[in-house]
Amino acid sequence: MKTLLWFQRDLRTQDNPCLQWALQKGQPVIAVYIYSPDEDAPWSEGSASRWWLHHSLQKLSAQLAEFNIKLHFFKANSRDVLNGLFKTGEFSDIAWGNRIEPYRRKYETQIEKLAQDNGIQVKRFNHDLLKTPANFLTASQQTPYKVFTPFYKKLRYELDLNSVTNLQHRQCSPCSHFDSSPLQNSCALQELSLLDKHAWHEKLHRYWNPGETSALNQLDHFIETALNQYTEQRDFPALDGTSNLSPHLHFGEISPAQIVQQIMPLILDSSNKNYTEAESFLRQLIWREFARYILWHFPQTIDQPMNRKFNAGFWHADNALLKTWQQGKTGIKIVDAGMKQLWETGSMHNRVRMLAASLLTKNMGASWQQGARWFWDTLVDADLANNSMGWQWVAGCGVDAAPYFRIFNPETQASKFDKQNSYTDKWLKEKNTVNEPIIDISSSRKQALERYNTYIRHSV
Ligand SMILES: Cc1cc2nc3c(=O)[nH]c(=O)nc-3n(C[C@H](O)[C@H](O)[C@H](O)COP(=O)(O)OP(=O)(O)OC[C@H]3O[C@@H](n4cnc5c(N)ncnc54)[C@H](O)[C@@H]3O)c2cc1C
Repeated sequence: MKTLLWFQRDLRTQDNPCLQWALQKGQPVIAVYIYSPDEDAPWSEGSASRWWLHHSLQKLSAQLAEFNIKLHFFKANSRDVLNGLFKTGEFSDIAWGNRIEPYRRKYETQIEKLAQDNGIQVKRFNHDLLKTPANFLTASQQTPYKVFTPFYKKLRYELDLNSVTNLQHRQCSPCSHFDSSPLQNSCALQELSLLDKHAWHEKLHRYWNPGETSALNQLDHFIETALNQYTEQRDFPALDGTSNLSPHLHFGEISPAQIVQQIMPLILDSSNKNYTEAESFLRQLIWREFARYILWHFPQTIDQPMNRKFNAGFWHADNALLKTWQQGKTGIKIVDAGMKQLWETGSMHNRVRMLAASLLTKNMGASWQQGARWFWDTLVDADLANNSMGWQWVAGCGVDAAPYFRIFNPETQASKFDKQNSYTDKWLKEKNTVNEPIIDISSSRKQALERYNTYIRHSV
């Protein structure tokens, strides 16, 4: 008999509990990746993410070969593909890493049942989380956390106690039997058509290198070169002051546990000069964990505000304004620079993401969902948990949201975080794209405040 290994968002070989489990069975392992955009609709990967996925799968396939495992690709409905494999009678077990999105969780439960109905043992792992959300509840009421700080404190306390001893690197030795027999209806990676025909994405190679090896190197590089000034530099968009690990994390090329394992010894050694910096970096990683936790407990937040007061058409959609914002033509320099950075690199600095989102949802009054959609298609790190939480946080309707009366002033922010205009010059000047502002920051701020005040008062 053989073991089936279903890869989803765990595109790595190290610290991969599914792979380790499959190898320990001692049977031939058959790995599959099933690209099924219809099942993920409307949240199937956007254009930039598909570029990443293509290259990440290519790297994974080569790495699995070193473990004597062939990775087979399919472009079809996962249930049909897996059911077909179950029916061959060749497999005794299946393992996969759980996904966090609510619609996928339902779907995976159905697949689990299907496997069991076919007499196949199922092994599922939360490969992407530091804590399983279901049992991580407030001590007082046994309800899910809705505020970051207490969540952070509890998780942080538990990591202190457990991380270094319990989060072992899970290394595996190769499979002794290599099974290269073809699988019916499988296809070549190219046939998944992840890369758009128009080769706009070629430029992304200048900025990114998808895959597990690159993720691990990137973490080492960050620790060696930028961690020592993380707190001070992480808010300055012109500096390379952050880890750039988000797309690697999203596709599971590196696990949060692997990062914690490298960071925690730096934190625990208070004689280490980087320990406060490492702590501050860990805090950001716990924001990611919190976003996943919220999505798990409050699945509606993928497209509805966490704060239900905002449900009834609070934002008005203005397509013309939205387009100007998307094209980086608002005339608000730091935001336009961010939108150009996004278009060119598939990413945008976190501080500028906040400014761009604030301008759109507060000064322009467009809906956070419209902004989130644009990010979804253009970010290489587009992630349903982080993106939904980020947008709702800025729009003031999310969990632990920025208070609605806090409206970023992009000009003040630029004078603080991009004093020399290095960032705006980099992304705007060479293309000569500075426009007249289409919106007055001060009066639009006042209008937004009135709108929020009125709404909040009437919806209590
Ligand atoms: C409107 C908006 C939309 C966003 N959309 C996404 C998204 O689609 N995908 C995504 O990964 N992040 C998103 N973020 C969060 C954040 O901007 C990125 O994670 C960060 O810029 C990635 O850069 P980095 O890896 O260098 O971060 P670092 O500063 O090095 O942080 C390390 C890791 O911590 C996590 N992290 C950092 N900041 C946050 C945060 N605010 N929320 C949650 N996790 C965080 C990321 O996984 C990141 O890789 C969004 C933020 C905002 C304000």
